[in-house]
Amino acid sequence: MNSYDVAVIGSGPGGYVAAIRCAQLGMKTAIIEKYSTLGGTCLNVGCIPSKALLDSSHHYEDAIKHFEEHGIDIPGEIKVNLKQMIARKQSVVDQTTGGIDFLMKKNKIDVYVGTGSFKDATHITIVGEETTEIEAKNTIIATGSKPSTLPFIEIDKERIITSTEALKLTEIPKHLIVIGGGVIGLELGQVYKRLGAEVSVVEYMDRIVPTMDAGVSKELNKVLKKQKFKMNTSHKVKSVERKGDEVIVKADNKKGEEVTFTGDYCLVSVGRRPYTDGLNAEAAGVKLNERGQVEVNEHLQTSASNIYAIGDVIKGAMLAHKAEEEGVFVAETIAGQKPHIDYKLIPGVVYTWPEVAAVGKTEEQLKEAGIDYKVGQFPMRALGRSRASMDLDGFVKILADKTTDEILGVHMVGARAADMIAEAVVAMEYRASAEDVSRMSHAHPTFTEAIKEAALAATDDRALHV
Ligand code: FAD
Ligand code: NAD
Repeated sequence: MNSYDVAVIGSGPGGYVAAIRCAQLGMKTAIIEKYSTLGGTCLNVGCIPSKALLDSSHHYEDAIKHFEEHGIDIPGEIKVNLKQMIARKQSVVDQTTGGIDFLMKKNKIDVYVGTGSFKDATHITIVGEETTEIEAKNTIIATGSKPSTLPFIEIDKERIITSTEALKLTEIPKHLIVIGGGVIGLELGQVYKRLGAEVSVVEYMDRIVPTMDAGVSKELNKVLKKQKFKMNTSHKVKSVERKGDEVIVKADNKKGEEVTFTGDYCLVSVGRRPYTDGLNAEAAGVKLNERGQVEVNEHLQTSASNIYAIGDVIKGAMLAHKAEEEGVFVAETIAGQKPHIDYKLIPGVVYTWPEVAAVGKTEEQLKEAGIDYKVGQFPMRALGRSRASMDLDGFVKILADKTTDEILGVHMVGARAADMIAEAVVAMEYRASAEDVSRMSHAHPTFTEAIKEAALAATDDRALHV
C-alpha cells in the first residue's frame, strides 16, 4: 500500500493548489479525483468555461452592435456558430485542465482517478477502474460543491438545467427563464441574451445580486434592463413544469399575484450545496454541520485532528480564489508554519459586462455595524478611457471611515472592474486611507483613474473630472 504525508481528495482550485504547496514544502503528496480530468468545478464546469462563453458572446455582441460605429463594415450577415463557440470553450477547458496534469507531474504528486472514501482517519479507499487503498498521515478534503435546486423542481438536464448544462447547449434558447438573479444566473443569462435569447430573471429577493452593495445591485439592474433583460425581483417561484419543449414557471409576485413565465429553457441558479456524497466522512470521525458543510476550526482542521477541509465544502464564500488561499493555508499549517487568511478582504466579482467587483464592507453592513463612514463615488462615463471604448456604464464607490479615512469597502461596476479590484485589495491589506490612494499616480488614460477620483471624492469631495 502506498503511504503519503498528505492525501488531497478533490482536484478543484482548493485541492490542486493545496497539493502543489504540500509538495513544495517537501511532503509526499497524493491527489484523488473522481473525474478523469483534474481542475474540479472551476476549470471544467465553472469559472473557466463560463468566462470563455462570456468572451465569445461579447465579441459577437460587439460585432453586431458596435463595429459599424467604430467604422468596421462587415459585408454579409454576422451569424453565431454555437457549435464552434462551445467547441472553443471546450478547447480552453482542455488546455487548462491539461495544465494541471503538467503541474502534478512537475511537483511529483501522485494522481489517483476514482472516488475517495475514508476507511478510517488514515486510510482512503479509491474506487475507480480498479479499487486501491492508500495510507495518509494527513488528509485535505476539497470535494467542493454541486448545484442546488428547490424541492419542487426536477432538473431534467435538457430544458430544466443547471449551469453545467447551460455551458454546453446545442441551440440558443428562444426564451431562457433564469431562476435566481445571482452570479451564475446573470453571467450565463448574459451569454444567451447576447446570442439572441429573451432572458427573464426570476429572483426571490427584492434585488439582484442581493448580497452585494445595494448601489451596485441597482446600477447593474439598470444596465441589464437597458440590455433588455426582463427582471422580476420579489418573485417566489412555486412550480416549474415541462410540457414537451416548453417550460412553465409559476411564481407569486410581491402583491401575491400568480405570474406565469413560459420559455423553452429554465436555468436553475439558486446557489450551490457542499458535496460530500460517497466520502464516508463519519468513518474518519469527520463531522458535518446542519448545512452539510464539513465543520472546521480556525486552522481549517475537522473534528479529526489529522484531517483538514477547504473550499466550497466548508463555510464561507464559494469562490475559487478563496479555495486556493485555504489550500495554501492548510499545506503550510501541516508543515508547521503559521499562515493567515484575511477573510474580510476576499474580492467578489460578477463577470457580466459591465463587470461588477467588490471588496470589504457594503454600505448596508457599515450602517448595521453603526460605523460612521463617508462615500466617494465617481462615474465611469467621466473618463476619457471609457469614452474611447464606449464603456460608459458604472461607477467606482469608495467607503472610508469618517474619522480615520481608512478604506472600508470598494464597490465598482464598469469595464474591467474584475481586474481593477486588485488595487483596492492591496490598498486595504495595507490599511490605506482614501487620501493615500488619491495621492498615487494612476496611468492615463485607464479605467483605474476612476479609483483615484473616487478616493479624491471620499477624502475631501474634490474629484477633479466631475
Ligand atoms: P471544486 O472545484 O468543486 O472541486 C471539487 C472536486 O472534488 C471535483 O472535481 C469533484 O469531482 C471532486 N470530488 C468530490 N468528491 C470526491 C471524492 N469523494 N473523491 C474524489 N473526488 C471527489 N468562482 C470564482 O472565484 N470565479 C468565477 O468566475 C467563478 N465562476 C463560476 C461559474 C460557474 C458556472 C460555477 C458553477 C462556479 C463558479 N465559481 C467561480 C465557483 C468556483 O467554481 C468554486 O468556488 C470552486 O471551484 C471551488 O473549488 P473547490 O476546490 O472547493 O471545489
Ligand atoms: P448565488 O448565491 O450567487 O445566487 C443565487 C440567487 O438565487 C440569489 O440571488 C438568491 O436570492 C436567489 N434565490 C434563492 N432561492 C430562490 C428562489 N426560491 N427563487 C428565486 N430566487 C432564489 O448562487 P449561484 O448564482 O447559483 O452561484 C453559486 C455559487 O457559485 C455562488 O456562491 C458564487 O459564489 C459561485 N460563482 C461565482 C462566480 C464568480 O465569482 N463570478 C460565478 C458563478 C458562480
